[in-house]
Amino acid sequence: MDFYVLLGVERSASIGDIKRAYKRLARKCHPDINPGDRTAAGHFRQISEAYETLSDPDRRRRYDAVGYSQSTIEETAFGFEGFDFSVSASGSSASTFGDLFAEFLHQGGSDSPAAVPVRGTDLHHTIALSFEDAMRGGPQTVTVTRQEHCRTCKGLGRLRVVESRCVPCHGSGMVKSARGHMVFSKACPHCSGSGRQRQTRCPTCDGHQIEMRTEPLTIATPPGLDDDARIRVAGKGNVGRNSGEDGDLYITVQVQPHPLFRREGDDLHIVVPVAVHEAALGTKFEVPSLDGLARVRVPPGTQSGQRFRLRDRGVPSPRDGRRGDLVVEVRLVLPRLLDERSKDLLREFGRINGEDVRAGLNHHKGHEGHEGHE
Ligand SMILES: [Zn+2]
Ligand SMILES: [Zn+2]
Repeated sequence: MDFYVLLGVERSASIGDIKRAYKRLARKCHPDINPGDRTAAGHFRQISEAYETLSDPDRRRRYDAVGYSQSTIEETAFGFEGFDFSVSASGSSASTFGDLFAEFLHQGGSDSPAAVPVRGTDLHHTIALSFEDAMRGGPQTVTVTRQEHCRTCKGLGRLRVVESRCVPCHGSGMVKSARGHMVFSKACPHCSGSGRQRQTRCPTCDGHQIEMRTEPLTIATPPGLDDDARIRVAGKGNVGRNSGEDGDLYITVQVQPHPLFRREGDDLHIVVPVAVHEAALGTKFEVPSLDGLARVRVPPGTQSGQRFRLRDRGVPSPRDGRRGDLVVEVRLVLPRLLDERSKDLLREFGRINGEDVRAGLNHHKGHEGHEGHE
């Protein structure tokens, strides 16, 4: 619907023309003059929006350019009943309808019986676990500050009081407000127009239904949690309002690294130093594991970097409880200092084992352009 047509003015109409046209029409189709007439109410809403748009130079320019207006008025949030609409025809200082709307639109809140349920927001928390605690699992205590139902009003936002006359409206159920030359009366927000007061805004939470509370929560953690794992604790986020659902609490787990074990999936890796003679002749030793010491047998002729897998000695999977393996990697270490006797023994050893350990390199001779010297 064209706003100019609605108001019955020329496209070149001045602000004064628009205001006069609006007031003339508003008096004709105001819902108070036409009680119960939905057509009149709808028409009133349209001319109000037209006036809102065309009386604002910026919005009018945009409307002229695009040909339509993005309504800023929420249609459903507002009823027109209860106005006492007396307009002075010559009044020019009347504020725009937007200002008038603002007051009514801000009434809602928890006092209103039609308050919409609001889901509580989720909360996020981080806990640090030692490697052992993460592997073991079990109860962990976290201290969380969250929005809870106000204890004074049990989350209702209001308290019942002995019925009495509503003070702000003196029991009339209506309050008046003036804007320039217009006087409005509307249902008293304190008693919803009844003139009687049976409940009062909760003084503890000021009607917001909630209070902040810090309390320890005990959380069951499954065994085998990995670094950055996330646990969801349903319903332990911020509390919902107007019977809305409670939010959830998400806990991110930070697992401290272990000095010996490195985790890969559900396997644990450990590096174990082995002396030359042990690797050559074979040996047995014990390594730490999640279940105490575990025996490892290293066969004769073991190479540095060789791995031995101990089945089911790894991490219990937090999903199905099945365990990974413990992977033992041996690393050959030479004695730091060699005495003369040891050096002699090694020279003797070299003479006896004359095998060329770099024989494999010969296959790649020339690849890099190094022919070696002959
Ligand atoms: Zn009242
Ligand atoms: Zn309260």
